[in-house]
Amino acid sequence: MSYELHRPRSLDEALALLERHEDAHVMAGATAMVLLMRQGLVRPERVVSLRDAGMSGIRREADGTLWIGATTTIRDAETSDAVRAHCAALAETFGRVATVRVRCQATIGGNLAHADPAQDPPPMLIAIGAEAELARAGGARRRIAVEDLLVDQFATAIDPGELLVGVRVPPPAPGTRATYVKFLPKTEDDYATVSVAAAVRVADGRIADARIALGSVGATAIRARKTEQALRGAAPQQIADAAAIVRDEIDAIDDLRGSAAYKREMARVWTERAVRSLMA
Ligand SMILES: Cc1cc2nc3c(=O)[nH]c(=O)nc-3n(C[C@H](O)[C@H](O)[C@H](O)COP(=O)(O)OP(=O)(O)OC[C@H]3O[C@@H](n4cnc5c(N)ncnc54)[C@H](O)[C@@H]3O)c2cc1C
Repeated sequence: MSYELHRPRSLDEALALLERHEDAHVMAGATAMVLLMRQGLVRPERVVSLRDAGMSGIRREADGTLWIGATTTIRDAETSDAVRAHCAALAETFGRVATVRVRCQATIGGNLAHADPAQDPPPMLIAIGAEAELARAGGARRRIAVEDLLVDQFATAIDPGELLVGVRVPPPAPGTRATYVKFLPKTEDDYATVSVAAAVRVADGRIADARIALGSVGATAIRARKTEQALRGAAPQQIADAAAIVRDEIDAIDDLRGSAAYKREMARVWTERAVRSLMA
């Protein structure tokens, strides 16, 4: 397959190219793009590679927000001291993506923009309240919660001409604990049958606050708001009933990794396990 390749040296140059060429496809680590091109699902005539556009990097901002640039590799985020200090569960979640080989190539921005509902980082980013930052030529920027960025299977709220420039993770509320559990009945490097990210604040032996998000159970990673509501104020003996609500909140379909009914049941089991592990 032949296409014209642009390798902009800055974000502004990349945005100007996208404004000039509406037909251009963006490429970051290319791990998803190459597969889509091989399968004939994407046939680009023009590709804008972000590899040299200076969009990588991880930093802690003055207000305590963690910034992860879009072209930061998943491996760099996984092994970053700043990410681990901010939220160890986020670093561990990055470490659950595929294999080291894939993680060294795939980027944070590419992962979110690809919007495969079975990916690992999105549920965790939703559970800890992360936002995506989008930019377009001319300097306009906007922020959108990761849960609103993912609108459908392989579809996002990124408009034509926009680029995802990075992810902002707010400082966790004091006392918040988080975890990511990935149910993998086949192999360690597979996509999940069901995955659950939970961020919970515990006070006086009860759950004071909870955010729960799941992957592989619908068209996008989803936030389980009714389950969160039921968990708030729950004592340890009430967790099982609260977690059971998740069964009716997800929109699972049959796929290669399990039937919809099995996924609903596993969502209940793994939500309860995740929350219990944070109460321990
Ligand atoms: C063998 C294999 C196993 C995998 N297993 C897992 C797994 O277990 N868990 C998991 O979470 N993921 C898994 N993945 C998916 C992987 O995480 C994604 O392929 C990867 O994160 C995409 O990132 P990339 O930088 O390679 O994106 P690319 O392939 O370059 O791009 C992907 C999409 O995002 C768009 N895009 C890229 N960057 C931007 C940007 N900055 N702004 C706007 N649009 C952009 C592209 O146009 C394209 O549509 C696996 C992939 C492979 C190949």
